[in-house]
Amino acid sequence: MTMIQVRNLMKSFGENHVLKDISIDIAEKEVVCIIGASGSGKSTFLRCLNRLEDITSGHVLIENVDITSKKTNINKVRQEVGMVFQHFNLFPHKSVIENIILGPMKARGVPKIEAEQQARELLGKVGLSEKEKAYPASLSGGQKQRVAIARSLAMNPKIMLFDEPTSALDPEMVGEVLQVMKQLAKEGMTMVVVTHEMGFAKEVADRVIYIDEGLIVEENEPLQLFNNPQNERTKAFLSKVL
Ligand code: ADP
Ligand code: MG
Repeated sequence: MTMIQVRNLMKSFGENHVLKDISIDIAEKEVVCIIGASGSGKSTFLRCLNRLEDITSGHVLIENVDITSKKTNINKVRQEVGMVFQHFNLFPHKSVIENIILGPMKARGVPKIEAEQQARELLGKVGLSEKEKAYPASLSGGQKQRVAIARSLAMNPKIMLFDEPTSALDPEMVGEVLQVMKQLAKEGMTMVVVTHEMGFAKEVADRVIYIDEGLIVEENEPLQLFNNPQNERTKAFLSKVL
């Protein structure tokens, strides 16, 4: 089943044409990694998938529902399409568990007891059961990012978007976050991941997409794309990052 359909997506900021006609289908349970140089439009693309950006033209359908339509309930879209950012954006004055239960309680009216029970399950899943009462400032970057993932998952999303989730982390903490993402992929979550972690892309992605200047230049299964890139621009990019 197709989970995400992107049709002729264009996004401009004033005169800056950032996304120039992107079309792609992403299947349920598929893990797609997006690679490309800084400023090529990767974050903008992700943000269009949950309407954090209004698109200039084209369509984005999630499970056949056009999220670009004025009639679509944007809050429901954001619940169904979770997003994890480079900077964790946890609420600093709330404990770990409070950070996680806030969304389900406010947006979905889940009773506190129930939200806490689910939060504890999720904390177990990301390996942070002991930290439920801790405050974000006392956590390492890797721990904060795992809380951010748990918080996103608490909304029971159908799709998870990750925008360079490990780029702000000290190297020794990258692995623990990638491990949680790998587990999520294994459980069948549909994931779109902007990353510079080529090892993760090789191991976990079903498909890797190389974006340059707002266009999909090349896409393929990871081994093909990394070992046998067809486009000169892909070759040039990979020669710099691999
Ligand atoms: P990437 O994530 O690949 O580094 P971005 O999607 O963040 O690239 O940015 C692509 C281009 O869009 C850049 O030229 C950036 O300056 C521009 N851009 C991104 N967000 C905004 C915004 N909110 N307002 C104006 N320009 C933006
Ligand atoms: Mg970016």
